[in-house]
Amino acid sequence: MSEYVLSVGMEVHAELRTESKMFCRCPVAFGGMPNTRVCPVCLGLPGTLPVPNRAAVQMVLRTALALNCQVPAHSVFHRKNYFYPDLPKGYQVSQYGETNPIGYYGYLEIPKLDGTTKRIKIRRVHLEEDTGKLLHLPGGGSGVDYNRAGVPLMEIVTDFPPDIEDPDEAKEYLVQLRQTLLYLGVCDGKMEEGSLRCEPNISVRLAGAETYGTKTELKNLNSFRAVQLGCMFEKKRQSELLEGGSKVVQETRGWNEQTESSFLMRVKESEQDYRYFPDPDLIPMEFTPEQIEAERAALPELPLAKSTRYQKDLGLSPYDAGVLTADRAWAEFFESAIGQGGDAKQVCNWMNGDFAKLLNEAGETALTSGEATVGKTSKVRPGHIVELTKLIEAGTISGKIAKEVFGDMFTSGSMPSELVKSKGLTQISDPAEVLAVCEEVVRENAGQAEQYRAGKEGLFGFFVGQVMKKTQGRANPALVQESLKKALETQ
Ligand SMILES: [Zn+2]
Repeated sequence: MSEYVLSVGMEVHAELRTESKMFCRCPVAFGGMPNTRVCPVCLGLPGTLPVPNRAAVQMVLRTALALNCQVPAHSVFHRKNYFYPDLPKGYQVSQYGETNPIGYYGYLEIPKLDGTTKRIKIRRVHLEEDTGKLLHLPGGGSGVDYNRAGVPLMEIVTDFPPDIEDPDEAKEYLVQLRQTLLYLGVCDGKMEEGSLRCEPNISVRLAGAETYGTKTELKNLNSFRAVQLGCMFEKKRQSELLEGGSKVVQETRGWNEQTESSFLMRVKESEQDYRYFPDPDLIPMEFTPEQIEAERAALPELPLAKSTRYQKDLGLSPYDAGVLTADRAWAEFFESAIGQGGDAKQVCNWMNGDFAKLLNEAGETALTSGEATVGKTSKVRPGHIVELTKLIEAGTISGKIAKEVFGDMFTSGSMPSELVKSKGLTQISDPAEVLAVCEEVVRENAGQAEQYRAGKEGLFGFFVGQVMKKTQGRANPALVQESLKKALETQ
């Protein structure tokens, strides 16, 4: 079979985390009874006038700047006209044109496996409104739920020719984009609830060919894995069609999660004419250079930049840095611990190891400071972990005991030093005391000691185990090694 190369363009829709809808004051939420969050404006009743949501505009501006986009001085809302019941007005408010959207000509960097990064060009970041949802009624027929109609929606589209050339890059682009949106606080990123939706345009062409192949659009992808598998599946399907002498048809395809395959939804016969025109009810948005610079200056450090800094300045591995920066709150917890004098590598190990595991089991989230407002939060704060690592470093407790202390402090919220004191867990580092225990163990196991001295050196581990058992794991391991040898040789 000839070699075919993949090209993927990505269209991502992100519902913005605003309190209210784009042009009215209806609340934004997920689920609930159909048509309970609607009003004359978002139902498109005659005589109503839209009022743009300032917070939504600001969120898109923030995203555009984080994605290194240019921002126009004026940005206009257009009406995209089409008739379908999910749109009560008969049009969707969107943004049209090459340099009219709030952001255009930007890029997002994604990490590559070899430690370098790749730049994925972004063509546009624009603001529009979401549509309602069609529901199939149990008794037959269809209904429409307009709760989602008018929710502020941001669309982020990659540039052409596509930079994404394999399924892993497609997935990584979405991972990075989602993390960026979460860091910016503009979207909750819940793919399973549809607040982040991704539609890749996929085509293949013969390696070396200059013209791009006919593309298909994949819909209903609601996980990173589905995006990756979808691209793999389409590459194979399209390559086989071409190899067999057939053509790829421009069509929209759905994704079946169970069979991990795509299926035909509809063939795109011609580009639909949406008769875009500027919405006469909405005045153009204006962005002054001062406003743009102020917004740019307020951007947080983004996940990839943070991860690179952790690797460069703190000596963490790409994996560790990636795990720590995947979530903004997690990274803040880590930075707070470092700020309190914690050793980066030690803090990282406890966080990504025991702490992450316990949080997951308890269904809790980590909190850096202050009081939580939602969900279950852990009692363990950065200061707990710093103190624990210091106790190990100072030789007060062994690493094994520290694990036990971690579990206790996770449940009780007590400081590790208090737990060590109240439970008598301090490491035994007095050479005379350790030697005494070792001598006792050797006396009690005279037979094994004889065998050891006769050359059965493998028995040494047995003696170490006995000493640890007697001291409940509190004996300093290095001292045990030293003292045991002494005890075995002298008795
Ligand atoms: Zn409304």
